Amino acid sequence: MSEIIVIGLGVSGLACAMELQQQGLSFTAFEKELMPGGLTRSERMDGFTFDYGPHVILDTPKLFDRLSLELEDCACQSSIFLNTAKILSIPAPIQHHLHHLPLAQRLRVFSDILCRNAKRSSATPGNFQEHILSQSGQTLFELFFQGYETKRLRFPLTDIDASMPNRIQPPALAQLFGVGATGTQSACGGHDARFKYPRAGGIDHLPRAMSATLPHGRLHFEHVLSEIDLQKKQVTFANNHQAFFEHLVLSLPLPDIISLIKNVPKAITAAAEQLNFSSLYILNVGLDKPLSPSWAIGRIPRQDTDFYRVTIPSHYAKACAPGGSDSLTVEVAHHPQRYPLSEQEVRQRIYAGLKQLGILDSQDSITVEWLHNVRYGHIIYGHKTRAALALMVAYLNQNGVYVCGKYGEWRDMLMSHAMQSGINTAHRIIAATTEK
Ligand SMILES: Cc1cc2nc3c(=O)[nH]c(=O)nc-3n(C[C@H](O)[C@H](O)[C@H](O)COP(=O)(O)OP(=O)(O)OC[C@H]3O[C@@H](n4cnc5c(N)ncnc54)[C@H](O)[C@@H]3O)c2cc1C
Repeated sequence: MSEIIVIGLGVSGLACAMELQQQGLSFTAFEKELMPGGLTRSERMDGFTFDYGPHVILDTPKLFDRLSLELEDCACQSSIFLNTAKILSIPAPIQHHLHHLPLAQRLRVFSDILCRNAKRSSATPGNFQEHILSQSGQTLFELFFQGYETKRLRFPLTDIDASMPNRIQPPALAQLFGVGATGTQSACGGHDARFKYPRAGGIDHLPRAMSATLPHGRLHFEHVLSEIDLQKKQVTFANNHQAFFEHLVLSLPLPDIISLIKNVPKAITAAAEQLNFSSLYILNVGLDKPLSPSWAIGRIPRQDTDFYRVTIPSHYAKACAPGGSDSLTVEVAHHPQRYPLSEQEVRQRIYAGLKQLGILDSQDSITVEWLHNVRYGHIIYGHKTRAALALMVAYLNQNGVYVCGKYGEWRDMLMSHAMQSGINTAHRIIAATTEK
């Protein structure tokens, strides 16, 4: 029987392993951490449960039917702190709540919509900024998208390829007058006003439920992949464990995969240099009293604060904080060259910004704090990224290596998309093994 090795047990690697098992194929899986989950891990501190990054379940594909996992239906308010002189907060998505804008801005949006409808230009946008402008119009671009996307990506928007996957919807005339306003979609993509979350508290219940369906003897934790030898078809781990493969599934970040390959061709190393990203500082805070805002997810395009998103997880997941208290999560994107920030600087700036926006009055109520860095945060497509990706993936596939998941495929994905990517990879292996 051919040897199938799965490395990386985030939700994509777990979904791949579940599908291989369901189809009767044997595999061995390795993960560098002590627990499965990757980005969907959680930490428990002083009665608070903090997710590694704020995570909500926006859709539940069929795979969820096989899990022993209780989910809560959540509905929460989200808010946008607009880029105006006066602090102005309106619900997300902005396109669906245009009637909350002051009259002067509504008139400008009205004129943008008329212009767009009159032009109906078929010219393809040359970059991400032009793409957003063609969808949102100049006024919403200035009020929200320009500031938000610049802070989220920390990359010049004109240097980003227009084809970078995103979900920006155009505004419609009716929404200027509050007709057809809905609270079901977020301003920058996800349908985050209604979602699901593990009832017991902590997104890690999802990967834990997934791994519980797998044979434990096949899962090996604390195995850090340190070398891939494509000639010998062998992987080596930092603890010196070695294994041979016929098919290798990798969901670790693509730049790391390429750097671990022995004798990798120069063209492939050069292609990996086209993989741009921004890192994320994530500050989780536990407070001994409730916070005053009523919303749970706040988006901040304003340039006078560093963070682009603030989440109050205890507003949708009561089990994540002790009674009478709240938890807060703040995300700041950074990059060593494009936007360098030390841990000390980011902490100071976050607290100053939270005070300025009236989200947190003082630091006195903080009982616990956890700041950590996510190296691969947001994936960014430059103008050469797609071609570089095609080259790297073809090279890996020729050598029996399949990449899956958000950072393996190098594509923005929700958890459900990452799971589907794992399932699709399992099907490719099943097809390859039955061809023989
Ligand atoms: C801040 C943030 C918030 C998000 N919020 C949401 C949300 O609300 N809803 C949603 O649906 N999606 C959300 N996402 C997207 C979601 O997290 C991802 O799509 C999904 O978790 C990706 O899973 P994955 O398995 O592809 O990758 P990962 O979770 O990154 O899994 C990769 C695995 O590989 C392991 N690994 C890495 N290197 C090695 C090595 N050398 N050896 C062995 N193992 C290794 C890692 O430990 C990890 O377990 C969010 C993402 C971020 C960054």
